Amino acid sequence: MGYFKDNRKVFILLNITHDCNMRCKYCYYQQEMNEKPGKMSYEVLEAAIKRAAESSFEKLMFTAHGGEPLTRGMGFFTDMLDMQKKHLEGRSYSNFVQTNGTLLTREFISLFNENDFGVSLSLDGPASMQDKYRVYSNDRGTFDDIMKNIGIMEEIGLRFAALSVCSNDTVKNMLSYYDLFKEFKNFDGMDLVCPQIQYTPDMITTGYYGKGLIELFDRWFYDTECMFEIRVLSSFVFSILLSRPRMCFFVNNCFSNYVMVSVEPDGSVSPCDSNPEIKIGNILDDSLESLIFKNPIKKMYSVGEQKRLEDCLFCEWYSCCNGGCPSLLDNNGKQLYCEDYKMVLSHIKNTLEKVGVCREEILGEESFKNIPNPCLRMQLKKIYKEIQGDSPDACNLEVKNPA
Ligand code: SF4
Ligand code: SF4
Ligand code: SF4
Repeated sequence: MGYFKDNRKVFILLNITHDCNMRCKYCYYQQEMNEKPGKMSYEVLEAAIKRAAESSFEKLMFTAHGGEPLTRGMGFFTDMLDMQKKHLEGRSYSNFVQTNGTLLTREFISLFNENDFGVSLSLDGPASMQDKYRVYSNDRGTFDDIMKNIGIMEEIGLRFAALSVCSNDTVKNMLSYYDLFKEFKNFDGMDLVCPQIQYTPDMITTGYYGKGLIELFDRWFYDTECMFEIRVLSSFVFSILLSRPRMCFFVNNCFSNYVMVSVEPDGSVSPCDSNPEIKIGNILDDSLESLIFKNPIKKMYSVGEQKRLEDCLFCEWYSCCNGGCPSLLDNNGKQLYCEDYKMVLSHIKNTLEKVGVCREEILGEESFKNIPNPCLRMQLKKIYKEIQGDSPDACNLEVKNPA
């Protein structure tokens, strides 16, 4: 056991390979893939599992990430499960996988189903959106292959979530984007995030993202049959009503508050996979606690973060946005999607007030009865109860899972 008790979750992102069978046009690993993509050795994998076993965190959340993790084959995953059984007996742990979905075979799907993996697919929307950027190396689109594999997941009953990268095409066709996900039976929710603009400067126009999110919000919020979450939108609703952001993007000083490590194939560790160039140590040499809480680079970074946030202090949305994700800044250090967030937050607050739900008047679970979307209503009640019970889980955030 580590040197103090910590009842929060820790997210351990395992970048088990930088190799991939696809060549998305906005991928930031392209160059490495074409040269010599890194592959995590069993030594590094086992070290990460052992570090988790020795740590004081109560809940251990492993995410197999990449590159495309399924290029490592079934054997890597079964070996990982065996290592976890050996080292994590009696510990509470969960596995997640972020995959592009093209290599999902019936065997993989059964393995993930039998071992309770949380599965997130990178899917940008219907073929017109997906196949524009998410292609194989011969430029062929991937939509049909993914849909075939989703068919097998639905047949086997494996639940899944999705990560979509928003482009101007998504915004132009927001309702068909929504309707695609509505077709799935075992679907939990999606993240709709923006690309890191330095890799694809023309993909999304600022201001346009906000416009799209507003259209999406209206469709989702008033959908009385919807049973899935849109995390960026839920996060805004939870912040406005209950001061509980759901995404790391909207937490003040994410690197200081967030309990995550991103382990590269060679064992080097970054605080977040959006910033792989910031190294805070190596899993072969350092404990999880020292990587997360004691590293001086992290403290230096958090000072810079504080400075950035000073720009935002007089913003009326500061308590909900906290300056956004520090990896999405323009050359002057301003949040790229600032105006979009303002538009969306203002629209959501007005909409909530229109249906009679406002922060000042929340007196109990009943206060959410006018929220038309049943999934959102249920989640609000749950978070409210957690806050009342002062459960540590109420403060737990979930990670953006970029692929
Ligand atoms: S974005 Fe993900 S799926 Fe696309 S090429 Fe890069 S690693 Fe592969
Ligand atoms: S994705 Fe952005 S907000 Fe989230 S932990 Fe990384 S840098 Fe922070
Ligand atoms: S909306 Fe803009 S100004 Fe306001 S907190 Fe967010 S990034 Fe800062």
